[in-house]
Amino acid sequence: MQAKSNDTTHKKEERACPPKPRLPTGGFARRRAVFLDRDGVINHEVNYLARVEDLRLIRGAAAAIRRLNTLGILAVVITNQGGIAKGLFTEKDLHRIHKEIHRRLGRQGARLDGVFYCPHRPEGVVKEYVTVCLCRKPGTLMVEKAVKELDIDFKKSFFVGDATLDILTGKNAGVTTILVETGYGGSDKKHEVTPDFTAKDLSHAVKIIEKHGKK
Ligand SMILES: [Mg+2]
Ligand SMILES: [Zn+2]
Repeated sequence: MQAKSNDTTHKKEERACPPKPRLPTGGFARRRAVFLDRDGVINHEVNYLARVEDLRLIRGAAAAIRRLNTLGILAVVITNQGGIAKGLFTEKDLHRIHKEIHRRLGRQGARLDGVFYCPHRPEGVVKEYVTVCLCRKPGTLMVEKAVKELDIDFKKSFFVGDATLDILTGKNAGVTTILVETGYGGSDKKHEVTPDFTAKDLSHAVKIIEKHGKK
């Protein structure tokens, strides 16, 4: 009887132990990501893409995204869509365009792991979107949201864009930056920035990431 009673006590003590604390997130292998500007990187820059009819993917972009998928690197779009605040198209139009981008990429076996957009502008005509926000690039809120939601290790991640604005955003977020020569190809020269790498297009950028990216 004595032994049985001891056993019970022991079991009770075990049960009373607090659960093991979870390791801090940093202890796990967080995921690498490539943050992608949309216009001029994935699809042709048409100066405010407002209609699905005007959507054309850049040659090789789908294959490049498919390669990222294969490598286990997240492909995450970070795009300013201030045309919404300007009243050039609606959020509904944007969703329609994104659905079509997903469809066309999917047809080539490529997948985007996330799409983050900023519909705001400090000036515009659609009141609800006219605001100074933290998400509009070169602000980093969209990147920060993606990092949190998708458990991304930003120190091993890249920002690929065709405008100096994208390079500045990448620098602000602390990731490695690649300027592609498609779209504006950096010709906007709005910001005084030097990218870490320059690539012919997204395919070339992915090759650079494979070669120079930290595993
Ligand atoms: Mg662009
Ligand atoms: Zn915004």
